[in-house]
Amino acid sequence: MKKFLSISVVLSFALLATQSAPQVLSVTGDLTFTSEGGVSESAQVVFGGRCQRESGPQRISHCDEDDIFGIKQVNYPRELKNHALVRFNARKHHDITFPVPAGFALEDVSPLSSSTFQEQEEPMETMLQHLDVWSRSSASDEVLAHFTASQFERFERAMHLKGIPEGGDDWQVIERDLQRVADEDAENIYMTSLRVRVEEEISLWKNKHHGNKDKKKSRVDFETWFKNYHRHDEIKDFYLQIADDYPELVTYIPSIGQTVEGRDIFAIKLTAKEHDGSIKEKPQIWWQGLQHAREWAGGSTVQFLTHHLTSNYGKNDNITAILRDTEFVIVPIMNIDGYDYTWNNNRLWRKNRRQNGLGAYGVDLNRNWDDHFAEGGSSGFPWSETYHGPSAASEPEVQALQKFFSEQKRIVGAIDFHCYSQLVLRPEGWTTKLSPHEKEHKFVGDRIVSIIKNVHGKTYISEPSVALYKTTGAASDWFYGDQATAANNGQHVYSYTIELRPSDTNPGGRSGFILPPEEIIPLGEEIAQAMEFFVDYVVKNPLKN
Ligand SMILES: [Zn+2]
Repeated sequence: MKKFLSISVVLSFALLATQSAPQVLSVTGDLTFTSEGGVSESAQVVFGGRCQRESGPQRISHCDEDDIFGIKQVNYPRELKNHALVRFNARKHHDITFPVPAGFALEDVSPLSSSTFQEQEEPMETMLQHLDVWSRSSASDEVLAHFTASQFERFERAMHLKGIPEGGDDWQVIERDLQRVADEDAENIYMTSLRVRVEEEISLWKNKHHGNKDKKKSRVDFETWFKNYHRHDEIKDFYLQIADDYPELVTYIPSIGQTVEGRDIFAIKLTAKEHDGSIKEKPQIWWQGLQHAREWAGGSTVQFLTHHLTSNYGKNDNITAILRDTEFVIVPIMNIDGYDYTWNNNRLWRKNRRQNGLGAYGVDLNRNWDDHFAEGGSSGFPWSETYHGPSAASEPEVQALQKFFSEQKRIVGAIDFHCYSQLVLRPEGWTTKLSPHEKEHKFVGDRIVSIIKNVHGKTYISEPSVALYKTTGAASDWFYGDQATAANNGQHVYSYTIELRPSDTNPGGRSGFILPPEEIIPLGEEIAQAMEFFVDYVVKNPLKN
């Protein structure tokens, strides 16, 4: 007879570096659990470098000192050394200039690029296209920006010459060395991976110990998945596992096109299939994540939503109805090259990995879509974090998604997940004129915000995209724009960019793009509730032309 374990398992673990070999980590802990009948049992669990010397009656151990569970520790090169995060008044200090990198001449770029490079509407914008702007508000001239080491030196010197000390209203250094922040994050991710892996091993061991039929270890353990962030290949495994586990719901599409560096961009379709495996024509919802590489919480949220739908199908009436009446088209990682780069080189990389020449890398994909391309609100300067690229949809990632979107034909709602700032942004970004569907978009955006608030109390702001600042060539404008609408049989799409946690007013603003892994689940929960409303509403009330 099978024994059932009660769920009151008590785990306590310590992670520590051993004295003799500081690079080796040991994981030790005590495990107490109660089997059916209330008999308490306990075991000592030892993982890591010291396990050879430990003894204990019931012990699971893993002794490979260099490679605990095959989990790779992230070891960033020093790309962010002495980069600083600074809050400052950009309008007041836009006169501080940054040199154009040696060898770059305006005649080297296309006439279009050089004109947008030179003729920003405001001098402040010209200055800001040199910096990596993390947040800014339309209500004040304050900007939070990431400076390279040499930019920061120059800025500090200029402020010194102006006689303005650091720490006042004019400028404050939030973080002096972003490399340190990235390294701390890498350490945290690694420790979390180890802790989660120990839990998985113990769960397998418990099953074995109690004579349960060996639980097959699958590629992905959904019970622990959302406790941490994951690399690109692991995320791909996550979606493959979902497709294996829910063949009646999920179709995995290995490639909708390739990135600049030749990686396949995968996608999934998710809906309740007919008994013969075919899919009825129904309204479609488009979700995409990780257009910007460093916005990891956007990727985890799309994973959470996918799992939320698949795991509740047939259990939750609302979700069962949603999957019966709707088809989801999901691109989990748009910018795979950039995302890999944030795991291997630079945690704060944003753009794709296009070589622009002269040592400049990357096009901002969310300024490269073929909608009012390069009409301001983006940069023609190849080093800029908002560099729009040489021409509309020049980037293969953008081409792949535009094509895939255009093939669908029945899309009624589209969300592009980003972080951070806690904003629900509706069209349009390229013009200050209110969009023809402002009333409908505002109604749905405001509802999303109030639903999110009810889940964990987080305050998001619902507003037109341009109210934040002007952008052109952005995905959410393209979804709502003429090209996509024509491809979509004339049906306009409810289109939003959602900027996820944390908020702008996070103390110091330091965590920014680095949202702690403990927030993946609460963030997923608040967005899942909002999306249940969104999908149900826009499918039943599509935009009228
Ligand atoms: Zn973004």
